[in-house]
Amino acid sequence: MDCPRDGVELELKEDEHVSLQRCGECGGIWMDVADLSRILLRHNMPGLEKLGGTANLEEIAGQCPSCQVDLVVIEGGPHKSVRYDTCESCGGIWLEGIDKGNPDDSVETIGDRIVSFYKRFGNQSQH
Ligand SMILES: [Zn+2]
Ligand SMILES: [Zn+2]
Repeated sequence: MDCPRDGVELELKEDEHVSLQRCGECGGIWMDVADLSRILLRHNMPGLEKLGGTANLEEIAGQCPSCQVDLVVIEGGPHKSVRYDTCESCGGIWLEGIDKGNPDDSVETIGDRIVSFYKRFGNQSQH
């Protein structure tokens, strides 16, 4: 699979619970909604459907690396400032540039970044 942003081949990162694909170029993360749910649950976070967010159909996102259909932008967080992309066909999730760490980072470390992203996303207070 290639990165929806820059076409670089995504690298697979996995442990016994989750597998995700990362772009070494832009730091984007592609994962299955089931893998995301496992990461959130492991950190005592509510499921994705409980975190809210609204689809912004006017924003242009990339294409799903697996189905080649257009991704949909979901906005959340304070003043809708936090966004991720999702594929309505396969349920895949694309997180833009959140993983600018070391290429050898463990799935655990990457999972922590994903969790802090969704903490920001789920915080819809105006403060
Ligand atoms: Zn990329
Ligand atoms: Zn897809």
